[in-house]
This record gives sequence, C-alpha cells and structure tokens, in this order.
Amino acid sequence: MTAKPSSLLLQFILVFIILSIVPTLFFSTELKRIEERAFSLVEQETRSQLELNQLSLQAILLDIDATVEILSSNRLLHSAISEKDSLDLEAVQDLWILISRSKKYFSHLRFIDTTGQEVIRINSVDNFVEVVTDEYLQNKSHRDYFQYAQSLKQNESGSFGIDVEYEHGKILSPITPALRLITPIDINNKRHGYFIANLNFDVIYGALDNRSDDHPKPDIFKTNGFLLQSQTFSQLLGDIVPENETYNLSILLPKLWEQAKIAPSGFIFDAESWWSYSKVTLSSRLLGRDLILVLNIPDQKISQYVDHKYSDLLLLGTTVYIITALLSLIFCNWNRRHKKHSIESQIARIAMDGMSAVLISDHNNRIVSVNKEFTRLSGYALEEVKGKSPAIFSSGKHQQQFYIKMWRLLLEQGFWEGEVVNRRKDGSLLTEILRIQTVTDHKGKVVYYVGSFVDITQRKELENRLRVLSEKDALSGLWNRRKFDKQMRRETRRSRRYPTKYKSCLAIIDIDNFKRINDQLGHDEGDRVIKSVSNIILEQIRETDFLARIGGEEFGLIMPHTDLNEAEMVLNRLRIAISLDHNNSVTVSGGISDIDDSVQSSYKRSDLALYESKSSGKNCISIVTSQENEAIA
Ligand code: GH3
Ligand code: MG
Ligand code: MG
Repeated sequence: MTAKPSSLLLQFILVFIILSIVPTLFFSTELKRIEERAFSLVEQETRSQLELNQLSLQAILLDIDATVEILSSNRLLHSAISEKDSLDLEAVQDLWILISRSKKYFSHLRFIDTTGQEVIRINSVDNFVEVVTDEYLQNKSHRDYFQYAQSLKQNESGSFGIDVEYEHGKILSPITPALRLITPIDINNKRHGYFIANLNFDVIYGALDNRSDDHPKPDIFKTNGFLLQSQTFSQLLGDIVPENETYNLSILLPKLWEQAKIAPSGFIFDAESWWSYSKVTLSSRLLGRDLILVLNIPDQKISQYVDHKYSDLLLLGTTVYIITALLSLIFCNWNRRHKKHSIESQIARIAMDGMSAVLISDHNNRIVSVNKEFTRLSGYALEEVKGKSPAIFSSGKHQQQFYIKMWRLLLEQGFWEGEVVNRRKDGSLLTEILRIQTVTDHKGKVVYYVGSFVDITQRKELENRLRVLSEKDALSGLWNRRKFDKQMRRETRRSRRYPTKYKSCLAIIDIDNFKRINDQLGHDEGDRVIKSVSNIILEQIRETDFLARIGGEEFGLIMPHTDLNEAEMVLNRLRIAISLDHNNSVTVSGGISDIDDSVQSSYKRSDLALYESKSSGKNCISIVTSQENEAIA
C-alpha cells in the first residue's frame, strides 16, 4: 500500500504551491511596496532638486535683471553717449570689465547706436575679459535682434529669443545658446542706441545648484521641446540648428512630453529609464518664460534604496519557502502514513465487525478490545470489560483441567479451538465455538491474544432437546427403554466401582391382566390406564429414582442408594396406591433385585422376580437377590 514516488512528488508540489500562496502574495505585495516606497523617495528627492534648480535659476535671473537695470541706467553711460566723452567711455568700459569679471554669465556687454554700429563692446569668454577695439566693432543693423531692439518703446526692455552665438555670420561652435537682453537708451526722449547684454547659458547652467556630485543636473528644454541646456545631450537648439532638429523632447521622451502637457510635474518611466520633470515659469523683467527641467534618475539611485530591502526580503523569502517545503514534506509523509493506517485500520475494522465475536487481550491477558458482535452476544460493552481478564465470563461449567490444557496448547502452538460454555452478563449460558490465536512480536513473545467465537447456544439447545425427545416415551412422558438401558449401564458402573459400599435396586412393574382392560374397555382406555399408573408411580418415588416405560404396560424403576428392604417397601406402597386409585380395577405386580455389575443379570433377576409375582397370583411384589441367583445358577 505505498504510493508511487511520482504521485508523491506531485502531491508535494501541489501542497507546496497551496502553502506558498499566502507567502507569495505577501512577498509580491512587499516587493511592490518596496519599489513604490523607493520610487516615492526618489521622486521626492528629485522633485526637491528640481525645485532647488528652479530657485537658483530664478535667483540668477533676478540678479541679471538688477545688473542690466543698473548698467543701462548708469549716468556714466548716458553722459558717454550723449557727450561723446572719451574719458567717460573708458570709465564705462572699466565698469563693464569689472562687472563682466564678477558676473560671468554676461558673454558680451554692448552699446549699439541707432545705426546698428557697436560703440562699446566687452567680450567675456572663459575668465578672459577684453574690450573690443574700434577696428573690430561691427555693424549689427542687418541682424534680426536689432530690428527687434528698434521696436522697443521707451522704458521698455526685452529679451531676444534664445539663439546661438554668431560671429561674423557663422554659428559659433560649440553651439552656445545666447540670449540678448536689450534695453533702449533714451536720453531726454531721444533714442541714442541700445544696451545689449548677451547671456551665456553655459555659465548660468553651470551655476545651478545641485546638491551633490552624484545628483546630475537637469536637462533644460524650451516649451517647444528643443534643448536649451543639457548634460546628457550636446545637440542643443534644434529649432535654430537644423542638424539638431530631431533632438526634441517629443521625440526623445514622447511619454514624458505627453505627460508634461497634462501635469506640470511628474515622475515617469520612459525610454527605459526613470525621469522626473518640472515645468517652471521664471519671473524676470527681462526674461520671463517657461522651461521644462528634466532630470534623469540613474538606475543605481533607485537600486540603492531597494537593494538592501531586497536582500532582507530574499533572506526572509528563502527561509519561508524552505519552511513551506518542509511543512509540505511533513504533510505528504503524514498523509501517506495516515492513508496507509486508515486502510489498515479499515481492514481491521471490517475484520472486527465480521460475523464472529472478537475479543483481544494483551500479553497479561487483560482485555483491550471487543467488537460489536461480542457485545451483542455477551451483553458486555467494551468499557465494562476493558482491562479485565476474560475469566470473568467463566460459567463454571468447565473443570480447571480444561483451562490448563487450553493454555498449554495456546502457548505451545499459538492456537486453540474448542467448544466453551461461558456466562452472559444477564447470567444465561453462552455456548460458543471459540478459536484463540496469539499475536507475537519479532522475538516470538506474545503481545496479543485474539479470541473469536460463534454462538452455538441455540444449536446446542436444539440438539439437547432432540436427544431428550429421543429418550422419552411419547404416551407417558417417562424415559423410554433406550434411556433406561443407558441409565442401567451407569448404575452398574457405579456398582462395579464400589462393589461393597454402593447399593441400588431395580424394580420391574407390570400391569396385571392388561389385555383384558384393552379388550373390555378399548385401546384408548388402556392408554389412559398406562398414563395414570405412571403418574401414580412418579408421585410416589424419590427425585433420585429413575422411572422408565420399558414395555407396553411395563415400567422399570432404578432406585439408587436403596437396599432391597427399602425397595420392597416402596414397591408395595406403589402397588397399593395404584389399586386404591383404581378401585381395585387396576393392579400391578412387581419384581425387585439389587443391581450388581451386569445390566443383563440385574434385569434378568428383576424379571424373574416379576414372573414369581405373576405366578403367585399377581398384585404382589417379589424379590430375587443376586446371592439367590448365584445359588440358582
Ligand atoms: P398379565 O397379567 O400376565 O401381565 O396379563 P396381561 O394381559 O397383562 O398380559 P401381557 O402383559 O402379556 O399383555 C400385554 C398387553 O398389553 C399386550 C398388548 O395388546 C397390550 N399393549 C401393549 N402396549 C400397549 C399400549 O401401548 N396400549 C394399549 N392400550 N395396550 C397395549
Ligand atoms: Mg406385560
Ligand atoms: Mg401385564
């Protein structure tokens, strides 16, 4: 009854899967939770970085605003322009050099007159600040920003687009985004020219605060999607530089682009990486515009949050799954055993609840179990007999010798079978065919005795009844000739055993002239007479006497422990009682003899005695003793 290994494996896998459901659900939500938490931490951090970037950008722009305001309204500049004073001009140049050195985001500071001719120009490149000499000053009247400058009204200042730096009609390489802040210089309502400050975005970008070196700076996109500044890409200003026109946020990060249309800031996964973005509006007198700051979040940034949590979870997970596997194994093993046991106990139960009564006792012969049939037959429930010896069922019908033999055979052969009479709980007798078998351990020591029996009480009773019937006389109800002969044999055995001590007598009683009764009164009346005579005899004799109808109207009476004198007295009493009862119409004659060691001779003597009674006129009793007979013989 062992399961196939493949089915065991299948069962194991099934149990493991079922037991793993809850931990797996837990771990998957835990994983999700860890990720979500990591993302929200990173999101918070990047958002605050973007806010910081925005603030520092804003601060720079305000500073630029203020500087441009100061420079454009400077008295020196005004007098230099209006008075064309060369000393003032030099003083302005000195001031501008000073400013350019301290505020590095100005790449050019210029004054252009109303014809577009540069009058003062300071170039500032990589910490190198120079005054452009007269021969290098250019006329910018053809440039679009000059047209724009001309359109500005008095006290109006503005910025001209974000552009690339051109020099002598060529785009400066590397591409340098440029923004021109233009302030018309009107003195006494007369326009004298324009103060133009070129801003170097590289420098502004470089001045953006970032919290630490491992935090990258954001890429800055214009609202049309083209790059203004970037650490990631070098293809800036696609709207101005034709070969960079594919470098647009809508193409680079389409999801982010779509998202930015809806939400001003966010944290999204696009182009296989995480990005945080923020749309910022910069408030500046000269430069008010929207920009999109986009920050790429390196993978390691997220993993640095989740890695140790993952390894904790992995450890916990491994432990839990090992325990689950162990539990599954234990369960499968238990199940296999349980199944086996349950089949075995099922078999045992079926066997126990069979046709025969079963009693199981331990090595000390103390009852441990009985079945239902046992309870039904004996009347004893298990609780009433548990721990007791089966000797409590003993009926006393068997001699000690019987049990000694039974135990000897049981221990020698491990088996005994036979007929036993026991006593039921209600006191009645129970005849059983009992079979006892021993159950031994591997050393051959008896561990259990298993007794099973079937009830044959009824069969036994039927047998007894039939036997009794076969030994009874139907008409008188007395014993018949067969039983009489048996009893005679028993009596002679006793005499043989105790020849001197034991005395018993046999009498034969015969109704006188019975033929005549039959003839005169009919056969039925004859039968009634036989019955009444037997009743009278039965009434007169002792309980220990044995009376049988041994012929048609002839009775045999065995009288144990009786000598001849006593027997004669009994017989005469009988004879008188019968004749009295029938008003002398029925009389009997009797013959008595002592019983010796032979049935035939005892019978013969009694018969002889009866013959004597008949021949001496009937209605009398005669005796023939064994001694007399010997003498005759
Ligand atoms: P005696 O005094 O010498 O004994 O004479 P008797 O007429 O009794 O003679 P005997 O004992 O020889 O006769 C027995 C008769 O009893 C013979 C038979 O017809 C009759 N008989 C035997 N059995 C039965 C029976 O069962 N019922 C009846 N009614 N008569 C029986
Ligand atoms: Mg007769
Ligand atoms: Mg007779």
